[in-house]
Amino acid sequence: MSENKKAEKIVGVKGMNDILPADAPLWELFENTVQSVLKSYGFQQIRTPIVEPTALFARGLGAVTDIVEKEMYSFTDSMNGDNLTLRPESTAGVVRAALEHNLTYDGPKRLWYAGPMFRHERPQRGRYRQFHQVGAEAIGFSGPDIDAELIMLCQRLWDDLGLSDIRLELNSIGDAEERHRHRADLIAYFEQHADLLDEDARRRLHSNPLRILDTKNPAMQAMVNEAPKLIDYLGEESRAHFEGVQKILRHNSIPFTINPRLVRGMDYYNRTVFEWVTDQLGSQGTVCGGGRYDPLVEMFGGKATPACGFAMGVERLLELMKASGEQFARNHCDVYLVHQGEGAQMQAFVLSERLRDAGLDVVLHCATTAGTGSFKSQMKRADASGAAFALIIGEDEVAAGNVTVKAMRAEEEQNKQVTVAFDKAVEHVVDQIVGAGDEHDHDHNHEHIHYHH
Ligand code: ATP
Ligand code: MG
Repeated sequence: MSENKKAEKIVGVKGMNDILPADAPLWELFENTVQSVLKSYGFQQIRTPIVEPTALFARGLGAVTDIVEKEMYSFTDSMNGDNLTLRPESTAGVVRAALEHNLTYDGPKRLWYAGPMFRHERPQRGRYRQFHQVGAEAIGFSGPDIDAELIMLCQRLWDDLGLSDIRLELNSIGDAEERHRHRADLIAYFEQHADLLDEDARRRLHSNPLRILDTKNPAMQAMVNEAPKLIDYLGEESRAHFEGVQKILRHNSIPFTINPRLVRGMDYYNRTVFEWVTDQLGSQGTVCGGGRYDPLVEMFGGKATPACGFAMGVERLLELMKASGEQFARNHCDVYLVHQGEGAQMQAFVLSERLRDAGLDVVLHCATTAGTGSFKSQMKRADASGAAFALIIGEDEVAAGNVTVKAMRAEEEQNKQVTVAFDKAVEHVVDQIVGAGDEHDHDHNHEHIHYHH
């Protein structure tokens, strides 16, 4: 770099966020909770590529959906001309993979995934261009039982995450034929009220009139409220399926409201659809959406296989967790190792490895351009690290074969600092930490401590 001309900084892509270390413990807590809840229902993880053939989404999601019309990051691979897209959601990819690897050959499968999704939307609170979803797909199940199980799994997750302000909205959008009859009546109704339709609605009138019901335009609300309701068009089987879902939810005390205007964005849904909604996040209040998508496997060229799933928005849920006021674990280590002098540094390396062998999280002080730093500046770093203990090896300690152990969080003054023999230091620190764990309500970061004697 030339001396008088500073290089210009390159910033990240708009709407795509860096998840910084300060937020890492919250993400980790969320991910661990999600994993254990899904596991407790017998769901198995699947990891599919972030890039898929563009045709997969065009066919799977439907050509006239918001996502396919205007939100996809699609590009041509200049090396070979392939048309590719950064996945805007994962159901299409998971179903493709299940089909490609014949995953359901020996019975139905409960699958889940987590990862980044990409949609070219206007970035705002709760709406990003790279965001994260956790989702589940139950493939090969046809009854209302799995629909209810997926919903109850979500409820358990909210409970485990300490989230209480999320309510369930439920609807049935029937089968293709039922929607077809409804659609004809719906278009006729909207045509009668053509003067009230906004530009978006007019554009959708003949391509996707169901989506007009989903409008956020206040001027259209009253008219939309009076529109023919799909639920009134359900046939015997769809009705029984919907009743079945509700019966299980009621029996398990899962509250819900039926929202006859609830439709989902993608074309592949049928029968049960649901959303989990909160009032705490402004207009981006849907934290999870799901439903049944029986037609999708066949649309992808497989043999007819019923399925049901959901996807939740991780950023929105994390924002809710932060708003809940609960204190989450911060980044911190168990031990920060302070040392002065070359002999001390060598001992500090050995000691830090032994502490890690015992299961502790250890930060060893290392040099910067300012050098190794004074004792005082090292202790400042130890404090900032959040360590429970600073272990100090100075020239005196090296000469005497000792280590000084300073409790950084002890309340009683006399417990603050002790000197122990080098070979006893690991045992001493482990005893102290395990002891503190018995007395206090322990935080998550210490749960993994174990002994290797
Ligand atoms: P919305 O109506 O908010 O646009 P959607 O119907 O497009 O949502 P889905 O495709 O069902 O959303 O995705 C499931 C969940 O993923 C949403 O309920 C939401 O929590 C989250 N989500 C969707 N798009 C975004 C985004 N651009 N940024 C952050 N989270 C998102
Ligand atoms: Mg959307």
